[in-house]
Amino acid sequence: MAVPLFETAATLAPLRDELRAAIDRVLDSERFILGPEVQAFESELAAYTGAAHGVGVANGTDAITIALRAMGVGPGDEVVVPSFTFYASAEAIPPTGATPVFCDIDPATYCVTAETVRAALTPRTKAVVVVHLFGNVAPVAQIEALGVPVLEDAAQAVGSDSADGRAGALATASTISFYPSKNLGCFGDGGMILSSDERIAEQARILRFHGSRDKVDYEQLGYNSRLDELQAAIMRVQLPHLDDWAAGRRETARHYEQAGLGELVTLPVPVTGASPAWHLYVVGHPQVGRLEQALAAANIGYKPYYRTPVHRQPPMRQWAAGLELPGTEEAAARHLAIPMSPVLTREQADEVVAAACTA
Ligand SMILES: *Cc1c(COP(=O)(O)O)cnc(C)c1O
Repeated sequence: MAVPLFETAATLAPLRDELRAAIDRVLDSERFILGPEVQAFESELAAYTGAAHGVGVANGTDAITIALRAMGVGPGDEVVVPSFTFYASAEAIPPTGATPVFCDIDPATYCVTAETVRAALTPRTKAVVVVHLFGNVAPVAQIEALGVPVLEDAAQAVGSDSADGRAGALATASTISFYPSKNLGCFGDGGMILSSDERIAEQARILRFHGSRDKVDYEQLGYNSRLDELQAAIMRVQLPHLDDWAAGRRETARHYEQAGLGELVTLPVPVTGASPAWHLYVVGHPQVGRLEQALAAANIGYKPYYRTPVHRQPPMRQWAAGLELPGTEEAAARHLAIPMSPVLTREQADEVVAAACTA
């Protein structure tokens, strides 16, 4: 039996009627952009994470650019960002006028640490983009203790928890993506900026709307980056189920552990105090090609997400001359995502482990 990498349709199946009703409600309202559904969803997601304010935007990449600008990042500044992440974490920095400075990760957790961030700080560092990769929760408090403002890239970590609170409410500001495969996915593109700082939220609101408060006066160069009513209404149906889905993702990780996967591959290690709602379940193997072949032969979904780390992608090389990031290179060479969803069964986990045995 095939085991797919994700299970989006199965997870949403019980909500079909409620989703249709939400879509109808928006059609009836004749409000499609930045209306009451967006406002309600902004408050509901902020309340869920523990942040004071939410600002809906068009996608998780815009969310990073706009949040950094709202935090005061601009030309001449440096922003530290890990290289082992989705490309957009770094791509969102140059549009602010700042330059990305790549830092290393701990390959056991796939996240940055206070040590890897400290090594990249200079007098020009204005902010650090801390990525909660794969749903793990990076040690935000330790990084803030270095004296530098943090933006959490929580695109992969909504639903994840830590000793200090939920991912998305740990730093000066955070960003979330609602790309359909993420832990809380919409039916298109969407994103949000969260912050407990009233001024940052206000700045983000202005920037997402052409740099204007009222569409009459334009006080800065902004963006057209807004969240749709339809997407907000769809996510308002899903948000009350996020904790159950997060629990299902943790249960899937337990199935893998109990089935003995840890004897065959390196399992992802939660950061101290973190309770990850694993977005992707990413294991390590010294000869990862053999693991890929074994899973392919058994019809099991897998994907190497970041084989070439961001600092070695052509548009980023100008900011990475001579840079060596050993933890990043190790993770890039050895990692492989295997099936993860809130509904993966113990039997399916056993199948994955049986296939991994043949690698
Ligand atoms: C998905 C993702 C983004 C970008 O989100 P989009 O909504 O696709 O623009 C940024 N950072 C990380 C870590 C992501 O996984």
